[in-house]
Amino acid sequence: MTHLTLQAVTRRFGAAHAVDNVDLSVPDGKLVCFLGPSGCGKTTLLRMIAGLETPSSGSIQFAGRDITRLPANQRDFGMVFQSLALFPHMTVAQNVAYPLKLRKTAKDQQTRRVAELLELIQLPHMANRPVTQLSGGQRQRVAIARAIASQPKLLLLDEPLSALDAKLREAMQVEIRLLQQRLGITTIMVTHDQREAMTMADEIVVMEKGRIAQVGKPLDIYREPVSEFVADFIGLGNILPVSYDGAGSVRLPGGRRIALAPGARVPESSAGLRLLIRPEDICVKPTSAADDVSPNRLAGTVTFIRDVGASLEATIDCAGFTLTAATTPRETPGLAPGLRVFAELPPHACKLIAAH
Ligand code: ATP
Repeated sequence: MTHLTLQAVTRRFGAAHAVDNVDLSVPDGKLVCFLGPSGCGKTTLLRMIAGLETPSSGSIQFAGRDITRLPANQRDFGMVFQSLALFPHMTVAQNVAYPLKLRKTAKDQQTRRVAELLELIQLPHMANRPVTQLSGGQRQRVAIARAIASQPKLLLLDEPLSALDAKLREAMQVEIRLLQQRLGITTIMVTHDQREAMTMADEIVVMEKGRIAQVGKPLDIYREPVSEFVADFIGLGNILPVSYDGAGSVRLPGGRRIALAPGARVPESSAGLRLLIRPEDICVKPTSAADDVSPNRLAGTVTFIRDVGASLEATIDCAGFTLTAATTPRETPGLAPGLRVFAELPPHACKLIAAH
């Protein structure tokens, strides 16, 4: 069942389109991420779903009902914003109980629900602590408990983790995702961090200049981006200008031929074509490797190694263009700047995309 449907939703500020003609369906129980660079319209779109902003045109339906102009406080949605907006003069339990109090829930029911929620976010021992005495991650959990206290039908999160340091942020991503799955609550989260979206989302909505550039499962978007913009935004990629020779292969800058997999998709594009190959798909071998009969073998020189212990990233200068290849010290021992290598581009991993 589709819970939330947006039809031709547009929001103009003066002459500018912050959100431009967006159609979207958010399925029941899923976590959907709005992902895109700063200013692409993610927050404006979320605020229209929340009822904090009114569309200039278009409609929003929720559970079969038109809510386009329904005030925010009548939507029954839970929200967590970047700033969290916890009440600093209240304890953890008082913060979590606040929405229940607003709804005039009976006192004993409030107490039961707050205890249940503190258990859920693993902070039962901190009920009476002022929120000002919590760590960033603990505050985050309290904000989420407060947002779900009155069992909202939709949870809206706007960059809720952006104030946290990298390690805590990654831990919270997993925590929120597990909680969301356990509760089965339909959730929309805004982020500009593609790793965060890949980690958490059932579906990613990639936005570009107020429009939807692509919607899909994280790995589908990573593997089959529809445009150079999406390919570039989702993960590290080598994106090279190429020309299609009409016979299942392309020419790189400098004229080198690269074979594509049989039946490879060739997009229509007046702006030209790009070859996309992800770093982990490139196979790096020393030039002494004798077994080499690969059609897509490029000679180059390693110019830089980013070694982070478990994995390493090599920058390879192939005369005319540069490739980034991801490998491990075990797979490619002895890789060092200055080394001559072969970079193999397996045909099945070479994708053609439309240039921007
Ligand atoms: P960020 O990641 O930086 O928060 P975003 O993708 O969430 O960006 P929005 O905040 O939705 O983007 O803004 C989209 C566009 O609309 C931007 O160009 C912004 O300047 C403009 N905009 C947003 N709110 C208003 C407003 N109240 N008045 C005028 N312009 C606005």
